[in-house]
Amino acid sequence: MMDRSQAEAAAATRCGFVALIGAPNVGKSTLVNALVGSKVTIVSRKVQTTRALIRGIVIDNHAQVILVDTPGIFAPKRRLDRAMVSTAWSGAHDADLVCVLLDAKAGIDEAADSILAKAAGVDHDKVLVLNKIDLVPREKLLALTKGANERLHFAATFMVSALSGDGVDDLRRALSERVPPGPFHYPEDQMSDAPMRHLAAEITREKIFRQLHQELPYQSTVETDSWTERKDKSVRIEQTIYVERESQRKIVLGKGGATIKSIGAESRKEIADIVGAPVHLFLFVKVRENWGDDPNRYREMGLEFPRE
Ligand code: GDP
Ligand code: MG
Repeated sequence: MMDRSQAEAAAATRCGFVALIGAPNVGKSTLVNALVGSKVTIVSRKVQTTRALIRGIVIDNHAQVILVDTPGIFAPKRRLDRAMVSTAWSGAHDADLVCVLLDAKAGIDEAADSILAKAAGVDHDKVLVLNKIDLVPREKLLALTKGANERLHFAATFMVSALSGDGVDDLRRALSERVPPGPFHYPEDQMSDAPMRHLAAEITREKIFRQLHQELPYQSTVETDSWTERKDKSVRIEQTIYVERESQRKIVLGKGGATIKSIGAESRKEIADIVGAPVHLFLFVKVRENWGDDPNRYREMGLEFPRE
């Protein structure tokens, strides 16, 4: 049983899920990193449960804000793409608060338009976040704010640059004020002790898509097979990239291994930045046939298996 002071402390805290919804490249990942701060907080696979999408946890102002970084929302064609999208939207429906991100430079383009239309159907408080304000003049921001608020009722609008950090403190504070009262969902030690493996796999996966955007849309997964800290404090990491077909394996490898080499170099650099130590990254590419139709793979990734 809680004693009185614990009960009082619990009563004074707030906690909630905040879904970040936005088109690919609006800056969701950058914003998560900016909100969380220098130390990227990740949550172990075990804690992830049904949402493989938790990207960061912020503690500010007696509130724990759990950021759910949704995969880019786009027009889904393949089954796995559809699963990503429907999971992203169900994440929004489950969340306590929805942040709709717009790229201030791109404005309300086709992708933003369809997101605003769908977000209208989400029955939660929504806040608008205009990102990349470093790239556009002020007049354009005001016009964009007006345009978006005419389309959809937002409880508040924030203008930020996830890259420079401009406006990020205000947004963090506002989110902390808007999540509902309640005890913290995740113990603080569990957050900081969480293994880096999942995040490292996500980073490699992101590099693959960045390099092979057209050729390999959401057809591959990455798993971290081993993570060994050496005496000299460097870390040896082995990861396997799973693809569906031999032809895709060839694409990931590239001519003379050039593509995988450059994916590995980018990923290694980013992981090393986060770990704060030299990283030796070894990547393998394997074909795992038909996994795109295997419900177990979807469950492991925290996705719902679409029936058609
Ligand atoms: P995501 O696909 O929504 O997760 O977007 P990312 O966070 O990966 O960002 C996509 C690109 O936009 C990257 O090149 C970022 O560096 C860039 N970016 C993100 N936020 C900002 C910003 O506030 N200003 C500028 N100029 N670039 C940004
Ligand atoms: Mg991202």
